[in-house]
Formats: sequence, structure tokens, C-alpha cells
Amino acid sequence: MTQTPSAHPAHPGPTPPSSSRPSRSSRSSRFDAAVRAAVGQGLLSETGPVAGFIDTDGVRASVAALHGAFARTPGVLHTFAAKACSLIPVLRLLADCGMGCEVASPGELRLAVEAGFAPASIVLDSPAKTREEIRLALALGVAVNADSIDELRRIDSLRNRGTSSVLGLRVNPQVGGGSIGPMSTATDTAKFGVALRDAGAREAVVRAFRDRPWLTRLHTHVGSQGCPLELIAAGVARTYELADEINATLGTRQVTSLDIGGGLPVNFADDTVRPTYADYVAALTEAAPGLFSGRYGLVTEFGRSLLAKNGFIGARVEYTKDAGGRRIALTHAGAQTATRTVFMPDDWPLRIGAFGPDGAPKDGPPLAQDIAGPCCFAGDVVAYGRELPELAEGDVVVLYDTGAYYFSTPWAYNSLPRAAVYGFRRGGPDGPVAFATVRDAQSMDAIATESGLAHADALVGVRGGGPADQGRSS
Ligand SMILES: *Cc1c(COP(=O)(O)O)cnc(C)c1O
Repeated sequence: MTQTPSAHPAHPGPTPPSSSRPSRSSRSSRFDAAVRAAVGQGLLSETGPVAGFIDTDGVRASVAALHGAFARTPGVLHTFAAKACSLIPVLRLLADCGMGCEVASPGELRLAVEAGFAPASIVLDSPAKTREEIRLALALGVAVNADSIDELRRIDSLRNRGTSSVLGLRVNPQVGGGSIGPMSTATDTAKFGVALRDAGAREAVVRAFRDRPWLTRLHTHVGSQGCPLELIAAGVARTYELADEINATLGTRQVTSLDIGGGLPVNFADDTVRPTYADYVAALTEAAPGLFSGRYGLVTEFGRSLLAKNGFIGARVEYTKDAGGRRIALTHAGAQTATRTVFMPDDWPLRIGAFGPDGAPKDGPPLAQDIAGPCCFAGDVVAYGRELPELAEGDVVVLYDTGAYYFSTPWAYNSLPRAAVYGFRRGGPDGPVAFATVRDAQSMDAIATESGLAHADALVGVRGGGPADQGRSS
């Protein structure tokens, strides 16, 4: 790869061929085969009108590309950010591929443990860890990155000498934001980490390390979608320089590892993977040449870039209609499974494919159509005026690049069920597609249970004067 990082902005443009990039045709032909097989095997049907799909060979190839890009640096711990695809079978697949796991809540920690990650390969981040959460992490021996110096003070009082947890401190290098404000972690006023360029902050960080010989890691995560590679690399470089400064000031190699985060943006405009992990390593090498010298152990935390292009949502078209001169396809893929796209359509556009009732790609002259979802609010539209072959009842639409932060992160609006998720694998270039259930569609019983069924009488029984918890059922 000889391209400079600046040739890889997070938006479309011509791309050179690259060996680390899965070829366009192999991925899209695998996906076409998966759509057809999903329809043929009844996984997309009138009774199961929307589902998420994960290409397991694609996931393995993406992990291999990440490991390959860092191959010259031994001992890097690559973790997967659980929030990007918080499904236990997916996490276990990633563990099987040699990944660790980054978690940011008690729930994610539980998923990581259930998925079988060794505690030493789990990293706990989060800006609001409770004492209980810190205690559990230290007892398990998972690495913890404190988000602030106040949190270090909590760790002071909770830490027992025997803990095997690697302990770190997150810093915000304040290198600036990308094109999506809410996705920018390193602005001057971002909520994460110690704001390094604020008055007195650097000195306070050095002191925090001096006072705590067990504090051995610096953490930063600059991202994500909409952030250019140079910005991410600059944030890592500032953190690397801080580690050198701490060690020089303290006269000892106290900082032994750097957790450089994730945040590589994903190209949602077409099928190509760019920037690649090789581009990322090239940008890091340019910004911080010593980073790969072996002086520091390295940890990465990638989410979207590992999973987004390895998953898609399939949804049936239930009806079509015309309104005010506009053609609308009413499908089962809306805000419950494509939340960010519906609420921020300009920042999170998705490619959409049109397939017939048999699951074969649809042909026909392009017609501008709104692709709407099932939720009862007017903005529940995943694409406006999209030119596609004319859709009809029983067709299937595919939302590409949705393997991260889409079907794995559903929204419970309208009590719509969480969609089923299936992994798939194609046996050879023209072979059959085999599916495995990753998550069942949520049942109506589960929806009722999660909606307070056990407490159904709780409120009609509440009358003035009684104890506040009178209606509680247990
Ligand atoms: C979300 C997150 C990640 C992963 O971000 P991606 O953009 O999905 O790669 C990594 N580290 C931390 C601390 C995060 O919050």
C-alpha cells in the first residue's frame, strides 16, 4: 500500500487495488446468495419480515486484515468494542479469531465473560463506572482504564494488592473533531478522559502516575465515524509522547503499555474497505514513528471497522403507496433497527439493495422511492428518494454495511420485536449457504414480560395513603 493516509478520507472517491481488501465481487456475490437462501429457507418471510445477517467468513477476513496490518509488532492485544455488535455468538466468534474484548458497562462485561474471553483479554472503559463495577472488574482481573483522576481515587480505595488487572488512565488529546459532532471523542469539550491541554492537566496526569506505581497504561480513543485518519493518528501520537514524558519525568519505565483505542471510520458509499488497517498503521507510523518500536505494549479497540461491512439487514416490503407525488415503500426496516440512520439521515446514509420475492436481485429502470419503516412516526424513513428498481409487496430490501451498531443495537419503539439475527457461511464460491441462529426474534411473550407484565396490577391498586410500594408483586 503506497497511498498516503490523506488519500483516504471517510467519503467516496477512487480507490487503488489492495491485497488486504476483500474483492467487491466476492462479498456482494456472497451477500446475494445469502439473501436468496434466506428467502428460500424462510428466514425472511411474512412471519419473520426483518432479520440481521452476519457473514462469518467476512468477519474472519476482517480480523485477519487487522492482525496482518500489525504483524510486525509482536504481542499487540486487539480487542473488539462489544457495543458495536453486542451478541454473544459474535463475540465468541471473535474470541475464536484471537481477539480480546473492550467493554463499557456491566452488561457488556457479562457478555464478554459469557462469550469466553479470558479476563486478561478484556478491557473495561466507560465514563461512569460505579464502585461495584470497578470492584467486579478488579476481582475478575480485567484491565480497567480510569476515565478521570477522580476515578483513580476510587480505584485507590477499591484496589487490593493482589489484583492482576492492568490499570490505565484515559486522556483526551483534544486534537479536534471530525464531520459528525456526536461521533467525535477528542474535541476540546468531549466528555471522555482527562482533557490533556487544559491548564494544569498534564502536570496532574504526571503526578497521578508518580503517586500510583501500579498505574501502567495510558489510554486514548479518538474517533470515530467522520474522523480523518490523520486526526486519529495525531491523538495517538500525543498520547505516545505523554507516555515518554511520564517515564522521563519519573525516571523509570512506569508506563509499559498504550491502549490506542479504535474509531477507524467505515466507507458506507460503496463496497470497498477504506481506509484499511494497513492505511491506519501507515498513518500511525508517520505520526509516531516510535510507536511500533516495542517499547510499549499495544492494545487496540476496534468496533465498526471490523463488523459493519460484514452484516446486512433484510426486510420485506409490506406495501407501497404514492403520497404527494412521492413513491413510498413501507418495509419492516425502520428506526427499531436502523436508529442512527433514521434520526441522522445525512450523517448515516445506507446503501440499499432491491430483491424480488424469490430473493434474486431486482432489475428494472430506477425509480425514486422513499424506503420507510414500520414505526409510527413520520420520520421513520431509512432512505429518501432513493433510485431503485420499482419495489412491490413481497419484495425484499437490503440495508448494507449494517453489521455494527444496527440490528445488534435495537430500539424498543412501538414495542416492535428485536429482529432475529443469523450468521451465514457459503460453502465455496457457488456452494450452498448455511445459516446459524445468533439471536431469535423477540417473542410477544418476551415483549409483554419486558413491559411490566409481572406488575400488571401495580398501578390500579395504588390509592392515596398506602405505602409507596403497595402494588409491588414480590
Ligand atoms: C466505541 C468505542 C470503541 C470502538 O469504536 P469504533 O468506532 O466502533 O471502532 C473503542 N474504544 C472506546 C473507548 C469506545 O467507546
